[in-house]
Amino acid sequence: MASSAYRNGGVPRGALRAQPSGSNGRQSSSFKSRLAPSSSPGSAVRRSSPASLGGGGGGSFKNQDGVPGRVRVAIRLRPRNAEEMSADADFADCVELQPELKRLKLRKNNWDSDTYEFDEVLTEYASQKRVYEVVAKPVVESVLDGYNGTVMAYGQTGTGKTFTLGRLGEEDTADRGIMVRSMEDILANVSPDTDSISVSYLQLYMEYIQDLLDPSNDNIHIVEDPKTGDVSLPGATHVEINEQQSFLELLRIGEAHRIAANTQLNTESSRSHALLMVHVKRLVTGGEDAPSIENGNSSHFIKPSKPLVRKSKLVIVDLAGSERIHKSGSEGHMLEEAKSINLSLSALGKCINALAENSSHVPVRDSKLTRLLRDSFGGTARTSLVVTIGPSPRHRGETTSTILFGQRAMKVENMLKIKEEFDYKSLSRKLEIQVDKLVAENERLQKDFEDEVERINLEAQNRISEVERNFADALEKEKLKCQMEYMESIKELEEKMVSNQRKHNRDGFFDDKHIEEGLASSVEEASEIKRQLNDEISRRKALEEEVNNLKSRLARCLQPKENGGGEILRLHKDLEDEVLEKKRLEEEVIMLRSQLLQMTLDTDQPRYLDRGAYRDSFNGLNPLTSQDQNPHYRSNGNRQKASAATLSEEVGLQKILSLLESDDANVRIHAVKVVANLAAEEVNQERIVEAGGLTSLLMLLRRYEDETVRRVAAGAIANLAMNEANQELIMVQGGISLLSMTASNAEDPQTLRMVAGAIANLCGNDKLQQKLRTEGGIRALLGTVRCGHPDVLSQVARGIANFAKCESRLATQGIRTGRSFLIEDGALPWIVHNANDEAAPIRRHIELALCHLAQHEVNAKDMVSGGALWELVRISRDCSREDIRNLACKTLNSSQIFRAELRRLRVEY
Ligand code: ADP
Ligand code: MG
Repeated sequence: MASSAYRNGGVPRGALRAQPSGSNGRQSSSFKSRLAPSSSPGSAVRRSSPASLGGGGGGSFKNQDGVPGRVRVAIRLRPRNAEEMSADADFADCVELQPELKRLKLRKNNWDSDTYEFDEVLTEYASQKRVYEVVAKPVVESVLDGYNGTVMAYGQTGTGKTFTLGRLGEEDTADRGIMVRSMEDILANVSPDTDSISVSYLQLYMEYIQDLLDPSNDNIHIVEDPKTGDVSLPGATHVEINEQQSFLELLRIGEAHRIAANTQLNTESSRSHALLMVHVKRLVTGGEDAPSIENGNSSHFIKPSKPLVRKSKLVIVDLAGSERIHKSGSEGHMLEEAKSINLSLSALGKCINALAENSSHVPVRDSKLTRLLRDSFGGTARTSLVVTIGPSPRHRGETTSTILFGQRAMKVENMLKIKEEFDYKSLSRKLEIQVDKLVAENERLQKDFEDEVERINLEAQNRISEVERNFADALEKEKLKCQMEYMESIKELEEKMVSNQRKHNRDGFFDDKHIEEGLASSVEEASEIKRQLNDEISRRKALEEEVNNLKSRLARCLQPKENGGGEILRLHKDLEDEVLEKKRLEEEVIMLRSQLLQMTLDTDQPRYLDRGAYRDSFNGLNPLTSQDQNPHYRSNGNRQKASAATLSEEVGLQKILSLLESDDANVRIHAVKVVANLAAEEVNQERIVEAGGLTSLLMLLRRYEDETVRRVAAGAIANLAMNEANQELIMVQGGISLLSMTASNAEDPQTLRMVAGAIANLCGNDKLQQKLRTEGGIRALLGTVRCGHPDVLSQVARGIANFAKCESRLATQGIRTGRSFLIEDGALPWIVHNANDEAAPIRRHIELALCHLAQHEVNAKDMVSGGALWELVRISRDCSREDIRNLACKTLNSSQIFRAELRRLRVEY
């Protein structure tokens, strides 16, 4: 076989070229020659072939001596079509296939069936590819080898003859039928340079042969070579084919011309026989066994001395429907038509019978079909028949006769007829009954199960919605109630505060008793609210537990039903919403709690502010109160811290810090107060900074106008600044400029006190000296003294002392040279002016600062000119603290400049 691929040759459709037909070549063996067994040894062998039935070469027709194999017959069952699905729904198919045994069982009735054997049994699932491979491929191979070959489809209209042979597979390539696949194989195996393929497409209708490629040519004559028996159609169009596309185009044209008359059985039924003839001419360059075409005798082999041309013919016949006339409802012309159709078909049947029975007379001339197929059926031709049947029991008669036709074509009628054993049948019946019972039982159980799942779903859903409703109502009510109570308490407190203030102003003194009463009632209210809030929280917890219970119950209910579908998804969604709602409510509770805490604090606050107890601790600043030595106030301060700590434990520091950025100004104020209280405790300072609290506090300084917020935030920062690690962080995050800005905008002395306290703490850090000064820290500190408030002055003095001490330490270590930054930034006049302040803390800090400054000669001149020398002398004489007194003495003695000045002024020292 030539191996060069020839498909997709790219020849355009226009390349289709009609060719006048000549002789179709001469085949050495003929249909007729087989009629006289004595003259053809091949026919004798053929007739004796039943022994090879079913296993005769697996579809290969190759025979060394040119003796043909018998007609191979495959049976193909069409799947039920839509009409049969409904009309035959309650009936079993009339046939049962056993493809592995190559058997078909035809049901005669409910108890009995006949079994037939075929060369191939193709079920309704057989692919077109497989059908081609078992039915046509061996024939095509034999055609490529130089033999004539025929593939025929026989069967009742609508059973799939055209489907099997003529499908183009344009929508789905897997659907390609035998015609298309044969041509693909042929093109792939011939050589375009030396071989040629041409095609005729004809139909036989009412004993007229019509050219499907030229329908006006409708009475083509059959020419038979009397010597060779070869059949040809000189009048038919022959189209040369170079590539698959032009062949497909040709099939399309031919199909469009086919006459199809409708019958009751199938609206697409074809009442004509369609014949596709593919003529293959191949150049044979070698091969000793190649049959010579040139000498017209294929049984005679010559050794080729020169290239030979080998001619062969593949005929694919789509026979008209085999149904009985009365069934097709034909009348008049249709009746004639049906008769003609059946004439050719019955003639074919008779020829097959005669051949099968080795009859001396084969009635080939009875019909055009048998005449046409004369050289393509039997003899050296390889023939395959595909018998198509439908599954419907309504057409059992036709199906039976079709099967018998196929059997005859295999030469053997009812080749195998197996009677079913009775026992087997009764067992089968019993099993069927049992299966039916089980199916029904299974269906009932399934239904019960689904109902149960549905009921549980519904119940769970109702419970969940009820709980959700109650939960939401209760929460809403409680929230409203808390808000109302909170507003009222605030209002009352404000009123009380105003009236207290008025009274205080009027009386000129603080009426402790009144305030105590007011406070007592406020505290009572606050604790009442707190109690209600706690109640609410426990109610909420109970509801949450119930929701969780229901969730887990629902999950348990849903477990067995794997594909719960939309309902379960919806329930899941509801639960997720519920969780979100819970989260939101939790946040609200946090806010309420912080408000409550603040109310507790607010009830105490007026006392501190009004009392003006501006006393500082050097270690910590309470931005909410001034710390006081009075144990009553101290215990209040402790209470605040304790409450803040409790709140922080209950709610979580992170949540409190997040409230610092709340959009609600009220919440912000409450939160910053809580944070300030926490920051006053050394243990909390690190935690607050780690949790990002410092950043949030600095952000409050930067962003908000409200002075209370800034005061409290600055206080909190001052407390955090007690920790050395935090000091650096404050500086890094721009703390100095924010504190300066806060100080310059502040009205309230307490704000200035907080800022001054914060800077004073920073002043005590050696590492930050330079940066603090560069960023204006000293000037900002000095700026706060403008209010003259002793608390502020005290913080300033502390800051200056801290700074001078660090500077002195660095100068001693040689790290720092040059004049003190304090002197450079103009602090000296204030220092000198306040050096003898009557408040002891201020005085002590300034005295220390002066001593530190005086230790370095580089500051001496400025100190002399600024009047600080006199203060040093005073300190060395009058200071109540001995260590400071000694330090001043030592300093005065060690400085050249001081000593010279004292000498000049004749001060005895
Ligand atoms: P006929 O050869 O008698 O003219 P058709 O080939 O036209 O029958 O088939 C009749 C109908 O059944 C068509 O719609 C066809 O597509 C469908 N059909 C036939 N055989 C098969 C099959 N094996 N698988 C799916 N559909 C089929
Ligand atoms: Mg058809």
